[in-house]
Amino acid sequence: MTEWSIGKIKKIKYWTENLFSIIVNAQVNNFSAGQFTKLALDINGKKIKRAYSYINPPSNQNYEFYISNVQKGKLSPYLYNLKINDEIFISKDASGTFILNNIQSCENLWMLSTGTGIGPYLSILQDKVCFKKFTKIILVHSIRYIEDFSYLNLVKNIEKQHFNKLIVQIILTRNINNNNFLYGYIPNLIKNGQLEQKIGIKISSQNNHIMLCGHPEMIKQTQNFLEKNKGFSKNLKNKNGNITSERYW
Ligand SMILES: Cc1cc2nc3c(=O)[nH]c(=O)nc-3n(C[C@H](O)[C@H](O)[C@H](O)COP(=O)(O)OP(=O)(O)OC[C@H]3O[C@@H](n4cnc5c(N)ncnc54)[C@H](O)[C@@H]3O)c2cc1C
Repeated sequence: MTEWSIGKIKKIKYWTENLFSIIVNAQVNNFSAGQFTKLALDINGKKIKRAYSYINPPSNQNYEFYISNVQKGKLSPYLYNLKINDEIFISKDASGTFILNNIQSCENLWMLSTGTGIGPYLSILQDKVCFKKFTKIILVHSIRYIEDFSYLNLVKNIEKQHFNKLIVQIILTRNINNNNFLYGYIPNLIKNGQLEQKIGIKISSQNNHIMLCGHPEMIKQTQNFLEKNKGFSKNLKNKNGNITSERYW
C-alpha cells in the first residue's frame, strides 16, 4: 500500500505546449538518483496515480518532475492545470532500480533518452557520483524539435563542470538539417553506426553500459539490436549485464 504525503506545488515551469515541470514541497523519504515516485490527485472522487521520475538530485529537497501533458491522459492534463499552492499527493517512498548502485563501474556509460525520459539522468548527473564511476558519460536526448530540450541550460552547466567527461548528443526526429544534431530514431542511428561515428566511441559490450529511458518502442528496438548484434545483455538483479532500462509506458 502506498503511504501518501500531501505536498504543495511550489513552482511550475511551462516549457512548451506539452512539456512542463512542477516543483513540489513535501515531506518524503530519501531516494536514490534515478528513482521515481508516485504523484496522485483526486479526480471526480477517484485517486488517480502515476509514476514520475525525480529530476532533482537527492541532496535537493525541491522535488522536481518533468512531465509530458498527454492528450486525453487521465492524470497529466490535471497536473498541467495545477496552480501554485495546490495540494498534490506524493508517495513517501521512492521506487525503482534505474540507479547507478546497480551498475558496475566501466569505461563508458551511455544514457539514452526520449522526451521526458531524460528526467532520471538529470538527477543522476547532478548527483556527481557518476563522474567518479565512469570515464565518459554520453547523454543522448531524442526530441522532436530543439525547442523540446527544456533542460538545455542545466545540461550545459553540468557539461561545463565536467568538461571532457560528459558528451551530450541531441537527436531530432523532425526539423531542418544542422550538423550539430543527428536526425532520426535512436535504434536506427545505432544500427547504421551514425551515433557511434558522431560521438567517436564504439558501442561494444566491453566496457560500455547502456541505460535506456522513455518510449517503450525505443527501448525494445535498441535492446533487441544490442542483444542480437553486439553481445549486450540485460542487467538483472542476480546477473550482471550491460543494459539497464526504464519504460515510461
Ligand atoms: C517508472 C516510470 C516513471 C515515469 N516517469 C515519468 C516522468 O518523469 N515524466 C513523464 O512525463 N512521464 C513519466 N512516466 C509516465 C507516467 O507515469 C504516465 O504514464 C504519463 O504521465 C501519462 O499518464 P496519464 O494518466 O496522463 O495518461 P494515461 O491515461 O495513463 O494514458 C497513458 C498513455 O499515455 C502515453 N504516455 C505515457 N507516458 C508518456 C510520456 N511521458 N510521453 C508521451 N506519452 C506518454 C502512452 O501512450 C500511454 O499508453 C513514468 C512511467 C513510469 C512507469
